[in-house]
Amino acid sequence: MLDENRLAVLNAVCDTIVPSLERDDDPTGFWARSAADTKANEVVAQTIGEMPAADQEGMGLLLDSLALQNFPSLSQASREQILVNTSLASREAAVGVAALTQMTLFFHYGLPPNPAWEQFGFPGPASPPPQVEKTIHPLTPGDGDVLEADAVIVGSGAGGGVIAARLAEAGMKVIVLEMGGYFNESDFDQTELNGFARMYWRGGPTYSADFNISIQAGSCLGGGTLINWTNSLKPKPWVRQEWADEYGLEDVNTPDFDRHIDSIWERSKVNHDCSELNQTQKTWIEAAEKLGWSWHKTDRNWDPEKHDPLVAGYMGWGDQSGAKQSTLKTYLQDAADHGAEIIVGCQAQKVLVENGRAAGVEATIEGVGRITVRSPRVVVAGGALESPALLLRSGIGGPAAGKYLRLHPCTLIFATYPEDQQAWWGPPHAAVVDEFDQGLEGDGYGFLIEGAQYTTGLGGSAIPFTTAAEHREIMANYANGSITINLTRERGGGQVLIDGDGQSMPIYSLDDPRDIANMHFGLEQQVGLHHAAGANQVFALATGMPGWRVGDDFEAFVDRVHRIPLRAGGAKLFAAHQMGSCRMGKDPAESVADPRGELHDTPGVWIGDGSAFPTPSGTNPMITIMALASRTAEKILEDSGTSGRSASETVEAGA
Ligand SMILES: Cc1cc2nc3c(=O)[nH]c(=O)nc-3n(C[C@H](O)[C@H](O)[C@H](O)COP(=O)(O)OP(=O)(O)OC[C@H]3O[C@@H](n4cnc5c(N)ncnc54)[C@H](O)[C@@H]3O)c2cc1C
Repeated sequence: MLDENRLAVLNAVCDTIVPSLERDDDPTGFWARSAADTKANEVVAQTIGEMPAADQEGMGLLLDSLALQNFPSLSQASREQILVNTSLASREAAVGVAALTQMTLFFHYGLPPNPAWEQFGFPGPASPPPQVEKTIHPLTPGDGDVLEADAVIVGSGAGGGVIAARLAEAGMKVIVLEMGGYFNESDFDQTELNGFARMYWRGGPTYSADFNISIQAGSCLGGGTLINWTNSLKPKPWVRQEWADEYGLEDVNTPDFDRHIDSIWERSKVNHDCSELNQTQKTWIEAAEKLGWSWHKTDRNWDPEKHDPLVAGYMGWGDQSGAKQSTLKTYLQDAADHGAEIIVGCQAQKVLVENGRAAGVEATIEGVGRITVRSPRVVVAGGALESPALLLRSGIGGPAAGKYLRLHPCTLIFATYPEDQQAWWGPPHAAVVDEFDQGLEGDGYGFLIEGAQYTTGLGGSAIPFTTAAEHREIMANYANGSITINLTRERGGGQVLIDGDGQSMPIYSLDDPRDIANMHFGLEQQVGLHHAAGANQVFALATGMPGWRVGDDFEAFVDRVHRIPLRAGGAKLFAAHQMGSCRMGKDPAESVADPRGELHDTPGVWIGDGSAFPTPSGTNPMITIMALASRTAEKILEDSGTSGRSASETVEAGA
């Protein structure tokens, strides 16, 4: 696809984003080094070659149109201007230019080992992966095999792992299908590139089909719990009440649900002792206190005996220390110890339905072929991006399947300070500002302000590109940078559809005026927080938007922030929490599963992950997903004639 002419234009584009710049004082070669010097251009070309055919074709057309304008032979200033003009020509062209820009920056600052890290003072990987034995032994079936189970569980993340353990401990024959791979400490090399490529859904941050939001999710044995930031928050009383009163999950608002939360808390070793604030979090928390805002240190599912804050800073790429209590270490291990079979690299394609009831799952294993698992119970726990896709491929789930996708959209503020912030050290989520959790309407649809893992590739690619020189100037100070997010509980949102190949295709659009007002309010509060903390530059991450610098009119900047459109071409929206797309509820027209978690239209099929949330949790959802999954496991056991509660006690005894 990329012939010689197109490659020449692509190289020129990469070189326009990251050119060699002359500076008198450049001891590490930071300014002089171009995208060609780090070979970022070659990796961009390779990445384009791996894109779906339609995207490759689009990129080819974009490069051809630049070739017609003699792009490679023009000056830096003309090339920058042509990229701006091209972005204005059409939505597709804007998406293409943004993709090329972000890929170039991502690889230039993220490829390991990276010469730019010296400039930042970022140490890169702190230690080589330790040799740690893999204690789960996945089953490797052959093409055409037919397996039998009492329950087949699709997905091994926060929800699937818990249900697998609970059912296996109650004596059921359980088979878990996980489409991702099996990785443990011995695979975690602490690099962003391998972390994303191996353990994230579709290889890392992926845009919704409408390009409005960038989505991250885990896809590996353990799902999101293997790579997440371990911030453990219990569901809020107003959310529990809403789910009970409006969606029929009555017991969720009683002490009986506390029993589930408490057992998850204990098995996951959640504690308060490993949340040291790094300099960046100290800086904005001191400002929050100055502003009189409510905040607290986080609880985390992290073994204090293995805790090392230096290693914790890399936890988004897996945890070498073994302190992280992902479901790989807890519930999946419990499941395996009680005889559950686990198959990795295995994607469930279709739920089998016979006589109107669940009959099993058809799945494919890469490099092997097709298998069938016959089972009277199917637990769909592939996460809220994939669970509805499985239902839609299978023609079950009713009219609500895929609707009500909620993502906790976040905008991100990047600020720089006069001093080094060491933002890559320590747990990324050690503090939460909950001052605004009630939102502008005072109804519990508000936002939390939190940190995020500070990475060079993704961070460098997210900082708005105005000109190459300006971007490099900001990156030169990356060590002094700090980020916050406003994790917003939204009312409206998205939907999961399937494409022509039956694969998940999420779309997302913030169109409820209350959500838009809350998001803009969240942007303003974050900007105010960094201003109060003494930042010398503040950037709202929005396409082409210049930042505020000491001496600029701050009120005018805040005004501009209020007008940023919250979609493609405007603020960059990020999300790592997928919920609601197979939600529970009383009404089959508006929910997929009944309040116990079983499909309205297909008995024997249960929803076991974050897609079951009736509405977004408004808090980082892992603990709520796990507690709800524990409850669903009891409902499955009750339905099968086994006492759910005694199974729960078994889990607690085993903890
Ligand atoms: C970077 C990041 C940081 C986060 N930090 C936090 C945090 O600090 N605190 C918190 O509470 N939450 C956090 N989260 C969110 C949390 O991890 C998720 O909400 C949670 O893991 C979702 O659980 P789940 O069971 O719904 O799905 P997942 O955990 O996503 O698991 C679904 C699994 O199913 C597999 N699968 C999907 N479809 C199929 C199929 N058809 N066949 C077979 N397998 C399939 C997937 O590969 C995946 O492994 C974070 C998420 C990310 C990405």
